[in-house]
Amino acid sequence: MDSSQFRDAAHSAIEEIIQYYDTLAERPVLPSISPGYLRPLLPDGPPEEGEAWPQIQADIERLIKPGLTHWQSPKFMAFFPCNSSFPGMLGELYSGAFNAAAFNWICSPAVTELETVVMDWIAAMLGLPEAYVSKGEGGGIIQGTASEVVVTAVVAARERLVRRKLSLEGLDAEAEEGMERAAELRGKMVALGSEHAHSSTQKAAIIAGTRFRSVPAPRETGFRVTGTALRQVIEECKKKGLEPFYFTATIGTTATCAVDDLEGIAQVAREYPDIWIHVDAAYAGSALICPEYQHLCPSMQHFDSFNFNLHKWLLVNFDCSAFFIKRRKDLIDTYSITPSYLRNKFTESGLVTDYRDWQIPLGRRFRSLKVWFVLRTYGVNGLQGFIRNHVKLGEYFHGLIASREDLFTVVTGPAFGLTTFHVNPRSITSLASSPANEPNPAHEAYLNDFTNSAEAQFREDANQATKEVYERVNSQGEFFLTSTVVCGVYVIRVVSATERAEEKYLKRVFEVLVEAAEEVVKGKVT
Ligand code: PLP
Repeated sequence: MDSSQFRDAAHSAIEEIIQYYDTLAERPVLPSISPGYLRPLLPDGPPEEGEAWPQIQADIERLIKPGLTHWQSPKFMAFFPCNSSFPGMLGELYSGAFNAAAFNWICSPAVTELETVVMDWIAAMLGLPEAYVSKGEGGGIIQGTASEVVVTAVVAARERLVRRKLSLEGLDAEAEEGMERAAELRGKMVALGSEHAHSSTQKAAIIAGTRFRSVPAPRETGFRVTGTALRQVIEECKKKGLEPFYFTATIGTTATCAVDDLEGIAQVAREYPDIWIHVDAAYAGSALICPEYQHLCPSMQHFDSFNFNLHKWLLVNFDCSAFFIKRRKDLIDTYSITPSYLRNKFTESGLVTDYRDWQIPLGRRFRSLKVWFVLRTYGVNGLQGFIRNHVKLGEYFHGLIASREDLFTVVTGPAFGLTTFHVNPRSITSLASSPANEPNPAHEAYLNDFTNSAEAQFREDANQATKEVYERVNSQGEFFLTSTVVCGVYVIRVVSATERAEEKYLKRVFEVLVEAAEEVVKGKVT
């Protein structure tokens, strides 16, 4: 493809992309194809001769669009959003054009320097303590996903503790005795995370070769880890001869958007300075750009690192997870290995940042461009307005669900736009005939207590009915929702935070939910 062919192809592709975005709301959000739909439509192998762009582009409509789940549709209310924007897409385009594996500063100084600047801007927007910006001992780096960030933090935490212990014991990490002792220490280590922390912490512990223990976060605490619960698990581990070295605290858990008790955890951080505390705010962290959420930030000075995904809720195209670290030395001491082919006078001058020393891979993409474009296009005010609109939409939807107490019970929220709820078990049991608002001890207790079989049955009925409602709604294809189980309770999650989200779609999904719930309830009671 030469320059002139590229011009024609790019124009045609952009036109198609605009048309796709303009018609998103009219498309069923979920595809209606069966597993394996694509292979029979494709040739057995790649073409022998190259094809012209119009032929290739035609297959986007014919083969690809039918198999897409439309994450940018305002009817996508599942998982968490993965927002895109036109400036974000332009950033991806330029990044592709300047294609480089920019691991060291000299590999493309603009890649490193723009990243450092935009990460400092973001730290300021979030209200992170000064320690997390590059002029202090910390700084920010862009990674692909929150899961990559967590692995990076877990391995760095493990190695930081190994270094500290070897140093106390006067052992050299490079010598045979030091290496043996390090292996022994690693064998005792345990990473911790809330029972509701994202599975990436458990996965990171597997990758790091350590144990993992979860910290209880029951319904009574709002699914939040408290300092007391964390301390108790740490002490239990220590009694067994294990060495807790890492904990993921969460702002906005995946299931319910719960926020762990950061103040209580900060106290634990002070008591156990060898434990690395990472704050995962993958989705909800974007809300910290609004001052009304920044009361969560001061505790951050007691922790070691923080991340949130701009690709979830801040209009930067996937992938873009911002990773902030309080002491960049903690990463560099683990990840800086410099064979002769990576040496250069700029690195040796100590005046430049080589981001390869802060991360697991060597090469890195020019992701800061899309962040820069988004920040400049919307401005801080525009982005705050974007977040606040979704919070308001979440409150609106919560109000609708709460208005049908006879049919639904809210379990959590609205929190950062997310509401979780289930079918009111009283609508489907022998209690169906009792007035909806009359307090009923079995009803109040069934969420927490399995010991009483009547309550357990109550919960089982609600779980079953809720699952049926959820499956009905998704099988209709108009909306895409997700469900989850929190402390034994099956809930439907609704979060509407795509760029095109509007009240009318939440009203409509509510109507669809009511219709489905009424049918399920009718089927059970009669
Ligand atoms: N942490 C939390 C709280 C999440 O909700 C998620 C995904 O939704 C993740 C981590 C994983 O995100 P990623 O896909 O960026 O690894």
